[in-house]
Amino acid sequence: MTTRRHARLALDGGRPVRATLLPYARQQISDEDVAAVAAALRSDWLTTGPGVPRFEASLAAATGARHAVAFSSGTAALHGAMVAAGLGPGDEAITTPLTFVATANAVLYAGAEVRFADVDAGNLLIDPAKVVAALTPRTRAIVAVDYAGHPADYESLRRAAGRAPGGPLTIIADASHSLGAVRDGRHVGTMADMTTLSFHPAKLLTTGEGGAVLTDQDDLAACLRRFRNHGIATELAARMDWTYAMVELGYNYRLTDIGAALGSSQLARLDEFLARRRDLAVSYAANLAGHRYLDLPTVEAGTNPAWHFLFVQLRLDRLTVDRGGVYRALRAEGIGVNVHYIPVHQHPFYRERYPGSAFPVVDAAYDRLLTLPLFAGMTSADVGDVVAALDKVTRAYGTD
Ligand SMILES: *Cc1c(COP(=O)(O)O)cnc(C)c1O
Repeated sequence: MTTRRHARLALDGGRPVRATLLPYARQQISDEDVAAVAAALRSDWLTTGPGVPRFEASLAAATGARHAVAFSSGTAALHGAMVAAGLGPGDEAITTPLTFVATANAVLYAGAEVRFADVDAGNLLIDPAKVVAALTPRTRAIVAVDYAGHPADYESLRRAAGRAPGGPLTIIADASHSLGAVRDGRHVGTMADMTTLSFHPAKLLTTGEGGAVLTDQDDLAACLRRFRNHGIATELAARMDWTYAMVELGYNYRLTDIGAALGSSQLARLDEFLARRRDLAVSYAANLAGHRYLDLPTVEAGTNPAWHFLFVQLRLDRLTVDRGGVYRALRAEGIGVNVHYIPVHQHPFYRERYPGSAFPVVDAAYDRLLTLPLFAGMTSADVGDVVAALDKVTRAYGTD
């Protein structure tokens, strides 16, 4: 037992840093958003109307991509991207284990198999050298994830793809966290062959449920548009009679005009949201740099991340409890910390499908990971509360 004096933890009956829980993420809804949704509800079109192409055009303009194809969720967008990449039975796609399960699941939806490649220890992004090691004659795609809003190293991934024994690969970016980020002068949406977005309320902007794929390639965009609409050929959509032609098996993965109206309204404030998130990340970094019990993420030179969230890695060698202990103590203090993510290969389904998988860097990082609250509506005082709670809890559990 420590005899050092410190504030009693809320977990042990002490006074919590905050009386109400600060969530790790929260949507930012304005009166304009409400008005835009109300107008959509009063319009002739709740779905398949003009709101969706209008949102797509704004997304393309905001990102510099030639095409944006809206989907009913980020997961549906990923499924579309895998199919548009031509993935099918007998094929493999390489992805990171440190992502939401949807990234890997989408590969399986297409009938292909997943190969995981380990991550870099500092930024936790897929490691291009590990991608090279995972290439096989069956590899058809690399699916990188811009973890926490930091774009992956697409230039190196492109070079890795050039060494694929089975011929050219499609590079897909899961940019669910990184809309608006820049790396080496390139914007998210222009670094990969296809870039997928999620508009879930926890993400950078929201349509309720929703997603999109960005691409510069006309043939991929046409394939994505068919796929989200039952596989019906879009060229016939303008015909003024009852005929249409279903030319391949697709799905109903359409975004509604209600969601698109919210998305367009939100997109008008994207720069404001990003500026706020970046300010909060700077504030966290200023307060936590050199912290005895925490390692902060590294940011590559020439990169401006979108900061979907801020993760830290606990110095477990200096703490008397594990990550679960710190997590529970912070929650009791009113800080809604989270963990992103349980590595995909550690889930029961994936353990059974790919037995014996181990990825030393991500497995070690996972045990130390904590996500700190970060969303556009957070105040500087909220950051102060998180820092105060981190100090309180790590001091209480520190080995010295
Ligand atoms: C949120 C998310 C998804 C899934 O998006 P949904 O819109 O919830 O379907 C996929 N990949 C990553 C990395 C995500 O964060």
